[in-house]
Amino acid sequence: MERVGFVGLGTMGAAMAANLVRAGYPLHVWNRTPGKAGPLVEIGATEAGTLAELVAAVDVVVICVSDTPDVEAVLFGPEGIAAAAREGTLVIDCSTISPRATREFARRLRERGIAMVDAPVSGGSEGAIHATLTIMVGGEPADVERAHAVLAAMGRTITHMGPIGTGQATKAVNQVIICGAYLGVAEGIVLAMRAGLDPDAVVAALNNGAAQSWVLANRSGRMVEDRYPLGFKVALHRKDLAIALDLARESGVSLPVAGLTAQLENGLIAGGHGDEDMSALARAIRELSGM
Ligand code: NAP
Repeated sequence: MERVGFVGLGTMGAAMAANLVRAGYPLHVWNRTPGKAGPLVEIGATEAGTLAELVAAVDVVVICVSDTPDVEAVLFGPEGIAAAAREGTLVIDCSTISPRATREFARRLRERGIAMVDAPVSGGSEGAIHATLTIMVGGEPADVERAHAVLAAMGRTITHMGPIGTGQATKAVNQVIICGAYLGVAEGIVLAMRAGLDPDAVVAALNNGAAQSWVLANRSGRMVEDRYPLGFKVALHRKDLAIALDLARESGVSLPVAGLTAQLENGLIAGGHGDEDMSALARAIRELSGM
């Protein structure tokens, strides 16, 4: 069994790391801000004093940090992975970041004999806790095969999409698709309420028909109540839309619904709602309707 290191013990990372320990991996963990590793150490993980110390102790490093500059910092910072890893180390990046930057990071690592796959995840904090994540993987077939057992301890549906960066591009598509789902349900709920219908009865009536979706089933209740506990932060989805809209520009594609969602999310973030669940898009539609 390979020795694994985990970098980034946030909402997703801490839960994913715990599943690696439960799967039997000798796991070393590190977080930029100290004090996050306690529960993992209790179940058998080893906390590294520094990132360089973690990298020196393992064969495979899993990263789950916030954004593209953060992955760059842990890879290429002065005490970072590129400086400390031995040849043959495999990096598995589970953060959601830019596909273009991912290709460039992998190229720079390859020059040092370090392999990388991109493996962004979908399925939310529930998926991270229950090891049921959907994972989209990009990279060389041999590297993806080597990463598979580690990913299988954290997720259920693991798909090799193609060369490095294609996992991130697939995740961008996922974030575009959910724009339409959230906005469509938000508009439908607001219309139902203003048209004098019982919105719960509308959801129950429609959820087995052509309008059925995960968002209608799981997030319409929050939109009716106008309360948006987490979930998935508006600000994180807005970060992902920046990646998707960048990819759209590079690809010469027009994405009107994703563009509109980005504008509505800008308004929510400016109004102090960036830390609410993404179903707060209904808040924006309600305001446009004077509710
Ligand atoms: P989070 O709870 O905010 O945690 C972010 C983690 O990244 C923290 O451990 C943070 O360390 C670390 N970090 C950030 N910048 C860093 C830097 N420059 N150097 C070192 N460490 C850094 O975020 P999350 O919800 O776990 O999300 C992590 C990634 O998964 C993101 O790319 C997100 O888009 C993606 N994702 C999230 C969800 C979800 O439902 N939450 C679902 C799918 C994918 P500190 O403790 O020091 O701040």
